[in-house]
Amino acid sequence: SKEKIALFTIFGGTGDLAKRKLYPSLYRLYKKGFLAEKFAVIGTARREWTDEYYRDIVMDSINGLAESYEHAAEFASHFYYQSHNVTDIEHYSTLKKLTETLDEKYQLEGNRLFYLAMSPNFFGIISQNLKDGLLLTDSGFNRLIIEKPFGHNYSSALELNEQIRASFAEDQIYRIDHYLGKEMVQNISAVRFANNMFESMWNNRYIDNIQITLSESLGVEERGGYYDTSGALRDMLQNHILQMVSLLAMEPPTRLHDKEIRAEKIKALQAVRLFKPEDVPHYLVRGQYGRSTVNGEHFEGYREELNVAPDSQTETFVAGKIMIDNFRWSGVPFYFRTGKRLAEKGTQIDIEFKNVPLNLFNDNSDEPLPPNVLTIYIQPTEGFSLELNTKKVGLGLETETLKLEQKHSAETTANSPEAYEKLILDCLNGDSTNFTHWDEVASSWKFVDIIRQAWDNETIDFPNYPSGSMGPIESDLLLTKDGFQWHWCP
Ligand code: NAD
Repeated sequence: SKEKIALFTIFGGTGDLAKRKLYPSLYRLYKKGFLAEKFAVIGTARREWTDEYYRDIVMDSINGLAESYEHAAEFASHFYYQSHNVTDIEHYSTLKKLTETLDEKYQLEGNRLFYLAMSPNFFGIISQNLKDGLLLTDSGFNRLIIEKPFGHNYSSALELNEQIRASFAEDQIYRIDHYLGKEMVQNISAVRFANNMFESMWNNRYIDNIQITLSESLGVEERGGYYDTSGALRDMLQNHILQMVSLLAMEPPTRLHDKEIRAEKIKALQAVRLFKPEDVPHYLVRGQYGRSTVNGEHFEGYREELNVAPDSQTETFVAGKIMIDNFRWSGVPFYFRTGKRLAEKGTQIDIEFKNVPLNLFNDNSDEPLPPNVLTIYIQPTEGFSLELNTKKVGLGLETETLKLEQKHSAETTANSPEAYEKLILDCLNGDSTNFTHWDEVASSWKFVDIIRQAWDNETIDFPNYPSGSMGPIESDLLLTKDGFQWHWCP
């Protein structure tokens, strides 16, 4: 049977993430039979809610997904609400009682999954209270899923990790990076390790450069208060981008299992060149969006957004060049850029192959042929494309670029599992492949901290890119000075 058996305790059960992502994902698993009779969910938060009210909220959150009202109600009947202040140790004894009652009622075999869907400020205290309040079992599994951000620099991440590790072992901790739940990110391994054509060329002899773009068209919306203390570097580079870099750069693992993959990812991250503070301006570009009018629509600048300081030095854009100092990648730049209020929303990876040694097709100029490019589209549409040079039909020897493209249909995309659904199922299976290990977190913070410190020592003239562009001009110069350009130019 594929049925998984567990009690989920969701801290922050009244929150946005729980409603938008967690309840719908649990329902999808229920629909597919991964959750059936033997599961229960305790939602906790400070508010005083009844079970009935909570179940209504859960039903609302799966509205549109549900097979029928009865099916949704049956699902929701597994949900229980417990008002709870996470800092109050007394409250954990009430929680323990409910946990034990449900464990028995649903025959949950002592399997416990704790999901911390609330501010990371509370991760340490919750972990400690779960242990001190005797909520961890000896009979089943104890697993902890935690949300980002994991610290705001290396030392705070280390401190947080030590707090959590006092109650949970590394292999019980599942640190979410929802990018790792995306189908196409997981597909990076398939592209590489299932196609000899690519794997044999996956190195500095054949690849010229790799470009990763995570572009958002929206601004900070109502998250200005949080974002202004974070910025693009911490919000995107430390986790999502470095995770993608490690998947692209790692050596082939001996098996596609969590321990083996993780070991290779960590080795790749440890080979990422750490910059000296004085090198930072040569490798990194930061930006902040300013006001502009695009197609008649007016956009405010970042500094005019709600809860953002009018002289904010927070970057809403970062681009950079990562170098990996190992045999496979020596000399190959991994460029990345990410930002808000850019021209188009989308995430894609472009892999540019080296040119043929000589262009035989152009007698009159030294123009090289366009490079072969493999593109992995991650969102909003998933798919691939491969650009090849072919002969133009006609008498001459002119070439043109042929783009072989496969993008998943809207239907396939709609039916593909949600990132959170996949990740929750992975956790139920005890598979940590798509979660971040502490060693990965540590390496990436060390890389990011150097950049942050260099930037904090120097004020910059913001804003420096208009809303609706692809970032500051320096982002383009970063590549042109190496003889490249961004492949994706919306
Ligand atoms: P939220 O503010 O909507 O919810 C926070 C929850 O914590 C609420 O249920 C609140 O009642 C509860 N809470 C706060 N203080 C408490 C206390 N002392 N005792 C008990 N409960 C308390 O936040 P959110 O957007 O759901 O985000 C939760 C976590 O998920 C954060 O770490 C966030 O960074 C992360 N995250 C959220 C999203 C998203 O889409 N919302 C995406 C990625 C990561």
